[in-house]
Amino acid sequence: MAVKYVYFFGAGQTEGNGGMRNLLGGKGANLAEMTAIGLPVPPGFTLTTELCTEFYRNNRHYPEGLQQEVADHLARLEQAMEKKFGDPDNPLLLSVRSGSRASMPGMMDTVLNLGLNDVTVQGLIAGSGNPRFAWDSYRRFIQMYSDVVMGMDSDLLEDILEQTKELRGVKLDTELTAEDLRQLVIRFKNKVQETLGRQFPSDPEEQLWGAINAVFGSWMNPRAVTYRKLNNIPADWGTAVNVQAMVFGNMGNDCATGVAFTRNPSTGENRFFGEFLLNAQGEDVVAGIRTPQPIDKASNDGHLPSLEEVMPACYEQLLQIRSTLEQHYRDMQDIEFTIEKDHLYMLQTRNGKRTAKAAVKIAVDMVLEGLISKQEAVLRVAPEQLDQLLHPSLDPKADKDVVATGLPASPGAASGEIVFSAEDAEEAAKLGLKVVLVRIETSPEDIHGMHAAQGILTARGGMTSHAAVVARGMGKCCVAGCGGIKVDYKAQQFTDESGQVFKRGDVITLDGSTGEVMKGLVPTVEPELTGDFGQLMEWVDEFRRLRVRANADTPNDAAVARQFGAEGIGLCRTEHMFFEADRIMAVREMILADDVEGRKRALSKILPMQKGDFLGLFQEMKGLPVTIRLLDPPLHEFLPHTRREIDELAAVMNVSAEVLQQKVDHLHEVNPMLGHRGCRLGITFPEIYDMQVQAIMEAACTLVREENYEIVPEIMIPLVGHVNELKLLRNRASRVADEVVLRSGAKIDYLIGTMIELPRAALTAHEIAEEAEFFSFGTNDLTQTTFGLSRDDAGKFLPFYVQRELLPCDPFVMLDQSGVGELVRIGCEKGRQTRPNIKLGICGEHGGEPSSIIFCHRLGLDYVSCSPYRVPIARLAAAHAALLEKKA
Ligand code: ADP
Ligand code: MG
Ligand code: MG
Repeated sequence: MAVKYVYFFGAGQTEGNGGMRNLLGGKGANLAEMTAIGLPVPPGFTLTTELCTEFYRNNRHYPEGLQQEVADHLARLEQAMEKKFGDPDNPLLLSVRSGSRASMPGMMDTVLNLGLNDVTVQGLIAGSGNPRFAWDSYRRFIQMYSDVVMGMDSDLLEDILEQTKELRGVKLDTELTAEDLRQLVIRFKNKVQETLGRQFPSDPEEQLWGAINAVFGSWMNPRAVTYRKLNNIPADWGTAVNVQAMVFGNMGNDCATGVAFTRNPSTGENRFFGEFLLNAQGEDVVAGIRTPQPIDKASNDGHLPSLEEVMPACYEQLLQIRSTLEQHYRDMQDIEFTIEKDHLYMLQTRNGKRTAKAAVKIAVDMVLEGLISKQEAVLRVAPEQLDQLLHPSLDPKADKDVVATGLPASPGAASGEIVFSAEDAEEAAKLGLKVVLVRIETSPEDIHGMHAAQGILTARGGMTSHAAVVARGMGKCCVAGCGGIKVDYKAQQFTDESGQVFKRGDVITLDGSTGEVMKGLVPTVEPELTGDFGQLMEWVDEFRRLRVRANADTPNDAAVARQFGAEGIGLCRTEHMFFEADRIMAVREMILADDVEGRKRALSKILPMQKGDFLGLFQEMKGLPVTIRLLDPPLHEFLPHTRREIDELAAVMNVSAEVLQQKVDHLHEVNPMLGHRGCRLGITFPEIYDMQVQAIMEAACTLVREENYEIVPEIMIPLVGHVNELKLLRNRASRVADEVVLRSGAKIDYLIGTMIELPRAALTAHEIAEEAEFFSFGTNDLTQTTFGLSRDDAGKFLPFYVQRELLPCDPFVMLDQSGVGELVRIGCEKGRQTRPNIKLGICGEHGGEPSSIIFCHRLGLDYVSCSPYRVPIARLAAAHAALLEKKA
């Protein structure tokens, strides 16, 4: 049988359903689903995503028979609507809409009122008795079609519209008369002819196929390609095309069009949230053409009446549909509707995008409402999304100089220098500057700049404007529709209502939760981790198996980590302690000493300070496991480098600058990353590790004896490549440790283990495990050494690799599972061969990256360790890993 490419929906009958999202796209599947559950949806049909794939595979040609299949479905649609496409007396008009598997807001364009021409417009006038409406629909059709399908610059017709309004002395489209609009149609068509050198197509059939081609064609337009890249959507998913009977929100003041969320997408509050416009069509609400009105009375701030007040019956029906949809989809919905002469029609529903705050609240609320399970709630929040909640917000006690207030479109706080274009935002961000992107309004072309900016401020547009929706999706702070500012792109400045001028480069602060715009930089405070967040994280901890530790070097870091729920420290880098101002001198003395005795003398000065460091860390962690890595970096990192620094140190140390310079030169390495570092230091200068082990054990013994702590210090030896290195260092370390324990008389155990960060270590893990009680995969170095790729130099070429898709992503961000990950897998397997219950963890940056965490779960690691701020993300990702495994 031939492949079916077209699926009908309408009048309670559907060939598709909500489960067919991959085939029908999100919009098509949900139109079918809404039809099936009895909601008022204008009938139509969907051309499948498979057809899109086929279209591109066949060099932009359709399979044979498609023409007929579309014609059959069109006939069925005509029957349902009791109208005929292209009919002079009773014309059926269509909308042609794109819709892929993942929602891609604003990426693809919709054509409305298709089927109009000079003949059918007369039929529409006769049928509706409303010439103004008919001409309004026609002029809109020409605007959309010439832009989306014919590729004409939309400003050309927009300018004519503006001129006409000026000429007529009116501000709004709705104030233009039927005659004005009829004239516009003529002028529009002339302009198209003049600009493109061809006529605007009048044949409805030609219009329809033109629009279908354009939707499929738009799958490959640069905006869509960029969006897919940013969101990891594969190109071969394709888009569907929905052809649907038109309903009209522009027939008069008993008509409207609107968008709404079933709950507040910013805060998650369980209240209907939306906007609409009377006598309007399509995306007028989103485009910010007029100021939209609120849905419910409670949101009416006295400026404009709400739908509840203007059309109470439609409002009631919408409220009913809100609850039907939430019960059916069991998630917050983002809906689009149109009211034609007091009849409500649903045009779209989908799971609504939301801020992290809203995601957490909605998930928790829905569990309490009995709509979803705890497991589902946990899976509803994307780990990466939590990042938004873990960052500071404005200090409520700070002085604020509020210069304007817009809509609180996407929460969070952002400060930065003002820029006025996406390009400038991107450039400034590349230089490491923090910027706030200020625009009159944003469009899909600005997405890269929105990414680069800390926050976004727009002068126009509502809570559902492009800027607001996209910013919420990105988790970026956004203040939208800030009418109090006048943006002047030419002068590169904006002016507030008092006339104060803000130039490019001036610093402002945005509060996306209140809509306030402030002059200068306003200080911030730490996030709140209780309430809904605390509740969700409690469930998270019920479901995960993987433990989560933090990489923390100081008691301060450790405190933050514990607050975020860290269950230990997976990596304490002791070198950071060597840099502290009060000890760097002693460290330098140690490095530059001529003999063992000199080194020991210097080390004995450092010992009490190191002991103090570890005391603080152990105390903060209250008996939770702490892994301490012995000194790792090459010694020259601690030495002075400039001539002036060397002179200074020489004076203090009482040696000549020349001698000192010689020493420094002597320590220089051609390739320090692979040089005299890690356990190689411990082997050549054993006194250093002796001192560190002594400090660790003395600190631990003190707490065990004096404060009844239960501590099992984990001493980690870095950069081992051969078991003999570890054997030597382990013997020595345990001798020192045992001595301390014996002397103190404390009852205490300790572990000695190693980082696995060289391929040789992973490949010989069965040998290394003879000497190691634990492994911690140092995937930063392991990535460098596996790829043979220096992280410090990769900036020059790695971005090209990612851009050209030679690599799917930066392997320092996301663990390269098939290469580096394979070494981790081998390391685990071989380590367990020798020592079945060897403790296994990972402490590279990847320990906080969700996809890498899921991988670690599958390998059966005991824990991941990441930076303190990422601990909740790691906990959630670990829960996802466990739940997804159960599902599979
Ligand atoms: P997007 O994917 O950008 O949301 P849509 O296909 O949903 O684009 O179309 C945008 C808007 O066009 C809708 O919100 C709706 O207002 C209007 N629209 C689409 N189809 C119809 C229709 N059949 N009748 C009336 N308006 C429609
Ligand atoms: Mg759109
Ligand atoms: Mg839509």
